Amino acid sequence: MSARREDFPLLVNNPGLHYLDSAATSQKPRAVLDAMRDYYERDNANPHRGAYDLSARATERYHDARVRIAKFIGLQDSDCLVFTRGTTEALNLVATAWGGANVQPGDEIVVTGLEHHANFVPWQQLARAKGASLRICPVTTDGRIDLEQLKGMLGERTRVVAFSHVSNALGTINPVTEIARAAHAVGALAICDGAQGTPHLPVSFDALGLDAYAFSGHKMCGPMGIGGLAATRALLESMPPYQFGGDMIEIVGDERSTWNALPHKFEAGTPNVADAIGLAAACEYLDGIGMAQVRTHELALLGRAQDALLAIDGVTVYGPGVNDRSGVLSFTLEGVHPHDLATILDQQGVCIRAGHHCAQPLMRRLAVPATARASFYVYSTEEDVAALAAGVARAKEIFSNF
Ligand code: PLP
Repeated sequence: MSARREDFPLLVNNPGLHYLDSAATSQKPRAVLDAMRDYYERDNANPHRGAYDLSARATERYHDARVRIAKFIGLQDSDCLVFTRGTTEALNLVATAWGGANVQPGDEIVVTGLEHHANFVPWQQLARAKGASLRICPVTTDGRIDLEQLKGMLGERTRVVAFSHVSNALGTINPVTEIARAAHAVGALAICDGAQGTPHLPVSFDALGLDAYAFSGHKMCGPMGIGGLAATRALLESMPPYQFGGDMIEIVGDERSTWNALPHKFEAGTPNVADAIGLAAACEYLDGIGMAQVRTHELALLGRAQDALLAIDGVTVYGPGVNDRSGVLSFTLEGVHPHDLATILDQQGVCIRAGHHCAQPLMRRLAVPATARASFYVYSTEEDVAALAAGVARAKEIFSNF
């Protein structure tokens, strides 16, 4: 795949910029920006409400966006895709709506030590509120979920296993189907945080055997403020609503109300139509490249970047081998705090992330307070890799003078 830098106006407008923080958020291709602008310029109205043609067009475009995004994530029944603000809201939706109705004192909720706070804190708080216990599956020293220990933790009191498809901090790709099977074997739900899965790997929700899968549009070339929860119809129909208001009701009586059909039952209020259309355009864009091709491109850059950094004395890379990671390179340079490293790289136009990556439980387990993280995407280039390596070498040089 030739690098797609020219498709991304921000990168074109910042020629010297080496954007290596795509695990935090991706840049947006022109096709996404155009689709959103087109919607506002031609078809904008409040959907589902107006009796006029313009509102019907907005409704249709919102519906079509849902169908397109569902197709991208391999979800045949697009009514089982609930739009949310992103992964965080999708996971809070399940933990609150399902957990509030189903978790009892003494139940067990299993998460892993690899999780982003978005897939950790909602479950921790649910456990606290319900008198359930939160069990945290250990990670191996190379940053994988310890599957044997996970299986050993599951039992008749386990109600849910919440785990990530791909770790944002290390890039570890987890065996989703195997974990889902183990959860189901004890009658627990399998809930997956796909924030780092959908942008980088081909995903088929229907084939993964999960109960629910959460994702964020902004990490996969789409706009901020839109994402989704894909779930089985059985789960969505069994859950009470998460929020109440317009659109999500069927009949509102003085004393009680009934709920609209899926997916509207979980989408209270005016929906985020333009961002849904932007995300659908992002899916179209990524499918145009081919997700297998996206993966190949990232893996090639990751391998080169890792080799280049490991050639610098004092660099440690965290996580499993490159083939078992998404395009994430989490590393430290001996004697240089990751924040200082990020500042020096920034002076050379290289954007990386430094810190705990919203994964404090994982950092404790790895016994590192922070790492530096470079992450690659469709628009990343060999020049970005070279700039990263040169920047790290420069940081080493600067700090060796102290
Ligand atoms: N889960 C993972 C693995 C992530 O990487 C992120 C974002 O960094 C999230 C959840 C939260 O996503 P958002 O902030 O888009 O809701």
